[in-house]
Amino acid sequence: MKLIDDYNRVIDYVRISVTDRCNLRCRYCVDGDFPFIPHTEVLSYEEIIRFVRICASLGVRKVRLTGGEPLTRKDLPHLLKEIGAIEGITDISLTTNGVLLADHLEELKEAGLKRINISLDTLRKDRFAWITCIDAFDRVIDGIKKATYAGLNPIKINTVIIKDFNDDEILDFVRIARKWDHEIRFIEFMPFGDMSLWKSTEIITSREIEEIIRREFELLPSLRPGKGPAKVFDIVGGSGRIGFISPVSSHICAECNRIRLTSRGMIRPCLFSDVEYDVKALMRSGKSDEEVKEFIRGVVKVKPERKLEMGAIRKCQRSLRNIGG
Ligand code: SAM
Repeated sequence: MKLIDDYNRVIDYVRISVTDRCNLRCRYCVDGDFPFIPHTEVLSYEEIIRFVRICASLGVRKVRLTGGEPLTRKDLPHLLKEIGAIEGITDISLTTNGVLLADHLEELKEAGLKRINISLDTLRKDRFAWITCIDAFDRVIDGIKKATYAGLNPIKINTVIIKDFNDDEILDFVRIARKWDHEIRFIEFMPFGDMSLWKSTEIITSREIEEIIRREFELLPSLRPGKGPAKVFDIVGGSGRIGFISPVSSHICAECNRIRLTSRGMIRPCLFSDVEYDVKALMRSGKSDEEVKEFIRGVVKVKPERKLEMGAIRKCQRSLRNIGG
């Protein structure tokens, strides 16, 4: 059985925010006074596992755990292992800021983690402390190194380029991709939450970043392109890859194969629409798996065809910390 929306897209990927809590305070991600959701409102591991089991019976194959910062939630390796054991789930991955990665790496590997995405917006310690409001640069670098030595593969580094903050580091990131044999994924700065840093006229598009890179490096379509929305290139004459994720400047909606589950237990069919559906209420009201399944099918049916044009994008109400980036 497959989950298919009204535009014939097959949904086989669920991104789950396991917590809204985070140990960083990235200026472009935190919203306002940063209130946390009370623990009782956050989905329990049992509820997340049940949701994934039901999704797997509907054809979902791929799960990513994110947040907030997923490694701030207790016993995350346990959740990872349980999800990995669900029949039908063939791919489980994690997006982390890397601060606690070195401490948990061994347990994560034992739990079955094979690949990882780590967010890092700057290679400069002082800038890292400014953008995240926390002095944890060395810990993140340590986490990346340990993940590399532990053989996680691929390691993808997510980098949001922000005008006048880190746009002078684009080539340094490419050099790091070559040196460490990692994939650097440049993500366009998106309009979420309360972000005085975001101005539609000032975002640096993937195309602009690509042009800057091509002045110095030759890029060829990657031999390991991956399945997601990223446009991935190999760097000629070296190892490592460069990916571009362009949610703002282009339409990657036709290839969208995912839904999101927020830490509050809401299904969010489209990242760029604040419309969410409360599956937690359903699960907590004693509905059967069959009823939850019907609900998920219905939510997928109303997944929007495409996001708004760049000029028309409103800021989304929630930050990615709440939605699950
Ligand atoms: N804490 C984890 C981490 O840092 O990877 C997972 C959650 S975080 C919200 C996931 C990703 O979303 C990070 O790479 C972060 O840079 C990105 N992100 C947050 N707000 C963003 C925005 N407004 N535009 C683009 N990316 C954003």
